[in-house]
Amino acid sequence: MGMGSKKRVKRLKAQGELYKCPSCGYRDGFHVSFLWGKKIGEGEIYLICPNCHSRFRLGWNISVSKTAS
Ligand SMILES: [Zn+2]
Repeated sequence: MGMGSKKRVKRLKAQGELYKCPSCGYRDGFHVSFLWGKKIGEGEIYLICPNCHSRFRLGWNISVSKTAS
């Protein structure tokens, strides 16, 4: 991790409709954030609850092209 809150990023199951925070019950969806790895242009998208600021990951790995990084 390293960045952001020291709180652990929880793992969410990628199933059903995801709009409700499992930590606090907030029901209006999530903010999106990015955690970049050591390899340039590769990272993971994670979700942040706007209400309790819990962070969640789904294994949503991403890579960007050289022109964009
Ligand atoms: Zn929450």
